[in-house]
Amino acid sequence: MLGIVASAGPARVAAMPERTCIGCRATDDQAALVRLVAVDGQIVLGTNPRLPGRGAYFHEGCVGLVVRRRALARAFGGLPASAELQELLRTVDG
Ligand SMILES: [Zn+2]
Repeated sequence: MLGIVASAGPARVAAMPERTCIGCRATDDQAALVRLVAVDGQIVLGTNPRLPGRGAYFHEGCVGLVVRRRALARAFGGLPASAELQELLRTVDG
């Protein structure tokens, strides 16, 4: 039998890894953020969460901030963006 239907206390959300958006600098659930990873000397969209390497995270809607703040250069030390990522950045860059 299920004893509890709804608890009055604050819900304990299961531990979700939090990451900082390099655009707006807010922290959010990793699942809500797009991951970038440095692979083979370039920055790629980390569609595979198990990709090894240095990562950075941003909200999809914060792409403009990422570009304006040159957050990629700061996070990855000037590594070039992959063609796919450049495409994404170009959608907001001018
Ligand atoms: Zn953000």
